Amino acid sequence: MPYMSTRGAEAISAPEAIVRGIAPDGGLYAPLSLPCLKKEDFSALAKMDYPARAAWALALLLDGFEQDELLPMARAAYSRFDDAAVAPVRPLEEKRHILELFHGPTLAFKDMALQMLPRLLTASAKKQGEQREIAILTATSGDTGKAALEGFQDVPGTSVNVFYPLGGVSAVQEKQMVTSKGKNVHVTAVKGNFDDAQTGVKTLFADPAFVEKMNAMGKTLSSANSINLGRLAPQVAYYLSACADLMESGAITWEEGMNVCVPTGNFGNILAAWYAKRMGAPIRMLICASNQNDVLADFIRTGVYDRRRAFHKTISPSMDILISSNLERFLLELAEGDCAQVRAWMDALKQEGVYDIGEEKLKKLQRHFVGGYADDRRTADTIRTTWEKEKYLLDPHTAVAVSVAEDYRNASGDALPMLIVSTASPYKFAADVADALALPVEGDAFQAAAALEKATGVKAPAQVAELKDLPVLHHRICEKDEMGEAVLAGFEE
Ligand SMILES: *Cc1c(COP(=O)(O)O)cnc(C)c1O
Repeated sequence: MPYMSTRGAEAISAPEAIVRGIAPDGGLYAPLSLPCLKKEDFSALAKMDYPARAAWALALLLDGFEQDELLPMARAAYSRFDDAAVAPVRPLEEKRHILELFHGPTLAFKDMALQMLPRLLTASAKKQGEQREIAILTATSGDTGKAALEGFQDVPGTSVNVFYPLGGVSAVQEKQMVTSKGKNVHVTAVKGNFDDAQTGVKTLFADPAFVEKMNAMGKTLSSANSINLGRLAPQVAYYLSACADLMESGAITWEEGMNVCVPTGNFGNILAAWYAKRMGAPIRMLICASNQNDVLADFIRTGVYDRRRAFHKTISPSMDILISSNLERFLLELAEGDCAQVRAWMDALKQEGVYDIGEEKLKKLQRHFVGGYADDRRTADTIRTTWEKEKYLLDPHTAVAVSVAEDYRNASGDALPMLIVSTASPYKFAADVADALALPVEGDAFQAAAALEKATGVKAPAQVAELKDLPVLHHRICEKDEMGEAVLAGFEE
């Protein structure tokens, strides 16, 4: 299946799109069409294990890749997960189901794609005859960074530079990143927020002088952010997998389907759910859950995307985002493939901080999406009540989704089964989760994790305890307009 830039008409193959990461015109590669699945496909999927499901889905989505070639990659990628099902679905009360995506090495859903991306990328580079080192530049709101560092560590022919907002990530997230090992990994804290870091990375991709310098060093740039098609495609697989499991168990029917609620920041995870829906998965409404940075909730309600607002630091930091990059891929569909229209909206966003899609396109959007948000207090309440009532321990991001899903049901009366996507282990945000349960905690995140484990009996993943004593290996801090210099300095060390 060919892919086109959201801002230009040129169509390229999946391997080329994966190697490039972002299009030279600043756009994102989006599929021109999607495969169409039948009910029987889901029964067949239900009989496969997770790596086989992923290989099957990726073969459909990525032209130039065969299932035979993808299967060993998927087996290796998902071998480090601590649950045999990889992405298990757990029942809650009231026809709600939790899709747990945090069983990978870094305890957040980013592993679902970032354990796969390095394999897709090196295979794509080979197919493209690319000889240069692939230098990954990535901005992170906390979880992508460690997942990319883990995925690319010592992968031949690649290097990775991660930029995170100084003071904008959780203590565990920061410790995970700055203790990363590997000869090819670089970590820098940026004096700014996530949007500054993401804009900085996009600016470097579009800076001819910087690209030239990298080329002269024998490197070509690519991205591990969800702007890379190689991240998006593996995310579609877990929605198909969840549908297959729920149909198989009888929790949902093909005819009736279910709604899906996703805690959202950059719109990558929920976009994958949208692609699954378009491929025919029995998904009805897509519920986009934001924290207090509610730019998407407002957009889905009004059709106006307005980032001119205060940026809030919340207890769900991986969703502290005001510029949701992947929305651009959905906009291309709303504009029925009119790239000039997408470009105009993106230019307006860049120059004026706002764009308006108009009544007609808003109606179309609202047929599939509904938005909502939960502030920190509500989020903490949801963590506490879900624990008290159901003995299920939520992380703050997932708790945002559980809150918004509840609001949606109350407001709409729509009682269809609900799949709620869980994006992180509660132990990655132990201090705030312990706080929500009103546990008396003194000291750091590791003490909070110990207190949480003691109070709930929910086992803490080994990764958290191991992290405590790892030495800090990365100390670089840069200004937001000096990210290019930071990359070059890292390569010269
Ligand atoms: C990245 C992340 C999100 C947001 O996902 P998007 O694809 O950016 O919308 C939500 N929760 C957690 C824990 C994350 O790491």
